[in-house]
Amino acid sequence: MEKLLNFINGEYSEPQSGQYLDNFDPSTGGVYSKVADSDSLDMILAIQSANKAFEKWKSTPVEKRAEILYKIADLIDANADALAFAESQDQGKPVALAKKVDIPRAALNFRFFAGAILHHTEMATDKDGKLLNYTLRQPLGVAGLISPWNLPLYLLTWKIAPALACGNTAVCKPSEFTSKTASLLGAIFNEAGLPPGVCNIVLGRGETVGQTLVSHPGVPLISFTGGTATGEKILKSTASHFKKVSLELGGKNATIVLKDADLKKTIPGVIQASFMNQGEVCLCGEKILVQEEIYDEFLEKFVAATKELQVGDPQDPKTFMGPLVSEPHYLKVKSLIDLARKDKGKIIYGGDRPEGLPEKLKNGYFLNPTIITDISNCSELHQTEVFGPVVTVAPFKYNHDAAKWANNSPYGLSASIWTENLSKAHKLAAGLDVGTVWINTWLNRDLRVPFGGFKASGQGREGGSHSIDFYTELKTVSIAL
Ligand code: NDP
Repeated sequence: MEKLLNFINGEYSEPQSGQYLDNFDPSTGGVYSKVADSDSLDMILAIQSANKAFEKWKSTPVEKRAEILYKIADLIDANADALAFAESQDQGKPVALAKKVDIPRAALNFRFFAGAILHHTEMATDKDGKLLNYTLRQPLGVAGLISPWNLPLYLLTWKIAPALACGNTAVCKPSEFTSKTASLLGAIFNEAGLPPGVCNIVLGRGETVGQTLVSHPGVPLISFTGGTATGEKILKSTASHFKKVSLELGGKNATIVLKDADLKKTIPGVIQASFMNQGEVCLCGEKILVQEEIYDEFLEKFVAATKELQVGDPQDPKTFMGPLVSEPHYLKVKSLIDLARKDKGKIIYGGDRPEGLPEKLKNGYFLNPTIITDISNCSELHQTEVFGPVVTVAPFKYNHDAAKWANNSPYGLSASIWTENLSKAHKLAAGLDVGTVWINTWLNRDLRVPFGGFKASGQGREGGSHSIDFYTELKTVSIAL
């Protein structure tokens, strides 16, 4: 059976312990490969290798660094079909989605930050002809990059590309549930001419190798995307070393449909925001709030559109939703649907497994898209992130009620507003306690804009110049003239 290995100092290597984890294909529930179950020793070797490579990489001319990053992007494009297949098999996402979104975005991450670093400039000020000040941005050293399982290559490369562009070296820890495409990156790095040790990938469990990475004194910067509880642990583990930390965490995002929304445009948008990638996107709108005048019409059309979604084999190009990523996650999502039932919610669509799946998929972690109404105001489901294909729909009267409901959560990642009245949307957007508001669109990303969350959804911003800020230290030099 295939073994997914660590990539340390430019070479694939077995974990020192010789131990492996089972890696499941979520569409069949069967083990299809083994993942290195690395321990602290592997992680320390990777940190040492990144540390050794740092001096040379940081003084590599920026044009050369950018050239290598552009080559990595080209190689991701050249291997797009194989990467999309691997991502789909490993994560359960439809192969069509991986081809359209995940893999092109991974290539774009490298291309974008290669360009960004070539064009980056710093400021200088002159004080009365007597003092010249300028700023220098300098890489920090070894960056610890930790990513979750929902958008494996997309989110890992969102960290690797700016870290390397700025002259840092890196040690990556992808999720143990989705290590496949990260493991394929090593060969791409070598083919692109990335020097050994500049980017290392250590596979294994978060509480072991992830924890070693975040608490190691030789890693001054941590970029983490994942759950809020893990983010809190990481903050505590890094505090005594005063590490630079960026946290992109969970969300409980609202989709707000105003009475003057154009439902022809709105329904397809809300379908994507609700169920794309099986609802396993931190930005999915799990809480749909609809102005009461159009509530019935919206619900009827939304349910009709949901019924059309094809759930099944992620390798079928027509599939819209594949299986959930793992059995524990499937059971967690099901338990939240049970909670909705207990809280007197009406499951008006879904809540169960799709019927008629082929024999080979009968043990896969499939769930129908699920729509819940009439849930009690105090239900825990209004606060808890489901991270699956489950939405609640509720009416509201005034826009300020919608803002109040949207903000009624410990999280503050994103929201979307659907309306033809942009001045109302503008006012409503200002009142939402979230890092990103989309109006008449969703997950429409421009890599130049800041991305991050309010409250329990995170700390710091990445994207465009904010990423360059994060992956460098800023120094001021003042010269008396
Ligand atoms: P987790 O927090 O469980 O894991 C994220 C990563 O952290 C994994 O690689 C995990 O390893 C690792 N990890 C776990 N424990 C530690 C530790 N003590 N020290 C260091 N690393 C550790 O999140 P999930 O993978 O379950 O991802 C889902 C969550 O991610 C959701 O809450 C979602 O909202 C959030 N997310 C946020 C995004 C954003 O941009 N704000 C984007 C995408 C997802 P292992 O898998 O081996 O446990």
